[in-house]
Amino acid sequence: MSDVATAAKPMRILAVANQKGGVGKTTTAINVGAALAASGLRVLLIDLDPQGNASTGLGVEPGRREVTSYDVLLGAAALSDAILASAVDRLDIVPSVVDLSGAEVELARHPRRASIMRDALAAAPDDYDLILIDCPPSLGVLTLNALVAAEGVLVPLQCEFFALEGLSLLVRTIEQVRRRFNSKLIIHGVVLTMYDGRNNLAQQVAEDVRSFLGKRVYDTMIPRNVRVSEAPSHGRPVIHYDPGCAGAKAYVELASEMLRRDGRDRPLAAE
Ligand code: ADP
Ligand code: MG
Repeated sequence: MSDVATAAKPMRILAVANQKGGVGKTTTAINVGAALAASGLRVLLIDLDPQGNASTGLGVEPGRREVTSYDVLLGAAALSDAILASAVDRLDIVPSVVDLSGAEVELARHPRRASIMRDALAAAPDDYDLILIDCPPSLGVLTLNALVAAEGVLVPLQCEFFALEGLSLLVRTIEQVRRRFNSKLIIHGVVLTMYDGRNNLAQQVAEDVRSFLGKRVYDTMIPRNVRVSEAPSHGRPVIHYDPGCAGAKAYVELASEMLRRDGRDRPLAAE
């Protein structure tokens, strides 16, 4: 598949996407972002999900979300006006609000509705080594904006029945976006999340995904771990909340693997 080519240089803008909800997109965006920030990269996370879980999980309370990704998409604010510091050093965030769920309808007649985020990013100062865009669980205008703006897609995938069907649809969508809007878009990698190696179905799905996408599937798998699910209610990434737990270690390893894949090798450690 042509979309599994290796990137020639480190990627700066990654969309974290999968149209299925509850597969670990937000958890992955937060923890990969935090692990890379801990390694010294300056990271921006753009919350493009009306549910705002990435904003909450990084300690940005609803009262602080004055200028948001919604304002940026509606052309009411520049991206740089929407950036807030998160609870994590070197990790900034553009928060979202629930109003963002109206963007689909509000942008329906906008002639350049697919490329608003790309244009906003192009006009923003070049302050970040990496920009992660946390997508909502759909393939509507919000995810489209992320895919048009991005260089690569990071796909969290839960090993369950129908996972491959969902993945095929996402791959087709990425191919369409590449043809119409963004010729450089590739799948940076698929990460298997909430993995339970004792579960036969999970093992089988993991094998199938690896034979379908080959090297595009990261070696690192994220285990199911209760500490990972507790961390957001404390407004912190799990790599800070409980650095020693299996989930935190796996996210640090995933971030290292992503850097190796991009040719930007540097040691990573949970804080
Ligand atoms: P998405 O953004 O794709 O909807 P989330 O990242 O919000 O998915 O994850 C869905 C739920 O699963 C959340 O409650 C989250 O805390 C939990 N979760 C995610 N990853 C793990 C994991 N590795 N172990 C246990 N729970 C997890
Ligand atoms: Mg989410």
